[in-house]
Amino acid sequence: MPELPEVETVRSELAPWLPKKKVAAIRILHPRATRRNTGPSLRSAKNPIIGGEINSVNRRGKFIWLTFDRPYALIIHLGMSGQVLLPKSPAALSPHLRARIEFTNGKRELHFIDQRTFGYLALEELVEDPFASAEFDGQIPRSITHIAPDLLEVLNGKVLARSHKELNAMIRSRKSEIKRVLLNQEVVSGVGNIYADEGLWSAKIHPETRAHHLTEREVDRLLNALATIMARAIEAGGTSIDEQYKRVNGESGYFDVELDAYGRDGEPCSRCGTLIQRLRFMNRSSHLCPKCQKKG
Ligand SMILES: [Zn+2]
Repeated sequence: MPELPEVETVRSELAPWLPKKKVAAIRILHPRATRRNTGPSLRSAKNPIIGGEINSVNRRGKFIWLTFDRPYALIIHLGMSGQVLLPKSPAALSPHLRARIEFTNGKRELHFIDQRTFGYLALEELVEDPFASAEFDGQIPRSITHIAPDLLEVLNGKVLARSHKELNAMIRSRKSEIKRVLLNQEVVSGVGNIYADEGLWSAKIHPETRAHHLTEREVDRLLNALATIMARAIEAGGTSIDEQYKRVNGESGYFDVELDAYGRDGEPCSRCGTLIQRLRFMNRSSHLCPKCQKKG
């Protein structure tokens, strides 16, 4: 599943290309692609972004949204297997193409491809970002106002309504397992199974340690490890571990070669040599070193 580094790679690759493009048509090819849409119908030729010019490509956590020269945003959520491609040749149509956006200027189209159909597009009004401050008075699509700022926003001071210290305290106020807290998009957004396992391995914290048993220092170490790993993953174009995630040119990201814990069960821990274990957790798996990551 694409997490923050993969979604940020897609956003940053769309950002130089989409602004100033005018939407000529939106073609929805699968009903699930718009199942979360609460705004004007994307299937209607009269929907308010037809003829609209794209202003910017934004992201919070795992959500991308486009803004226009009108008060609507188009959310693109990649779900489990969503891909946004800008194919050079329209002849190369994927069998999993769920939506396409045509532009009045420029030959390329935007294709939304999604094999497992957990991703979606949604057209929504923009509202005030509850995490913005006077200095950063951003707007955000209505349905994602409950999504917490992501770690890169917090650490970059982009959202002053939640500081690093506040996030640390919020995590330590939770009684559930630390990994469950990291995966809760209302605490901190953008972290999924891969980067949670990598961050916990790096900070030497067992995924099932209760968050309120961690010290401020341990949580700081964890947040800094996560931010460092995600920044390195963005530089590598994200992690394409299951070939479901692709960059906008259709290529894979390369961060999977750097993973220390996720998917490494049975291989020696690169710090101490003990074999990495896989445990069942929240209907998925946790990967950890039983020696470096003692349960607290
Ligand atoms: Zn180890």
